[in-house]
Amino acid sequence: MKLVLATGNKGKLREFKQMCEDEVLPFSELLGEFDIVEDGDTFAANALIKARTIYEKLGEGYIIIADDSGISLPVLGGEPSIYSARYAGVDATDKENLYKLIEEVKKKGLTSTPAYYTAAIAIVSKYGEYVVHGWMHGDVLVEPRGSKGFGYDPVFAPSGYDKTLGELDDEVKSKISHRGKALRLAKPIIHMLRTR
Ligand code: IMP
Repeated sequence: MKLVLATGNKGKLREFKQMCEDEVLPFSELLGEFDIVEDGDTFAANALIKARTIYEKLGEGYIIIADDSGISLPVLGGEPSIYSARYAGVDATDKENLYKLIEEVKKKGLTSTPAYYTAAIAIVSKYGEYVVHGWMHGDVLVEPRGSKGFGYDPVFAPSGYDKTLGELDDEVKSKISHRGKALRLAKPIIHMLRTR
């Protein structure tokens, strides 16, 4: 069964390709680009919405995986959380969202503050649905550093590192990241679905 990723996010796709030994295709290669309305109120609900949408279009020969993820800052009451991709507005770019986050932290009079990323990975196949989670804790800084990663990575320094994810290589990020941790839980499930 082919493994298909229900995302149009290039940063996520690059990380999944790097972390998966099996070939993983973006859904757009099979179905073309289109938007999926993510109106769930949790990361898990939104990951399932994305995976189910693609599974319904492709059918039984496929295992669909979807990632819904975001960053949360306790000092902002947990925001932007599930709204991370549209923090600065519905069609906001990663950069606009990043600078909106910096402004909100500055408004609190802070130069850094604790934060964490969450990833929910949903797996949908003819054998049923599964969701796993991973988290990464650290600090958000108000000065962006580095150009690696994507999204909020230039301002996120993982706990135990004095560099931001913008400065750390993908290999380092995948060992400690929310997505890497969730994917390591997802892999045995995918293997089980492929071999049953
Ligand atoms: P989603 O595609 O609806 O799940 O939105 C995820 C959003 O969360 C992205 O657009 C980024 O803004 C943010 N995000 C999630 N994971 C990461 C990450 O690993 N690095 C940086 N930003 C991330």
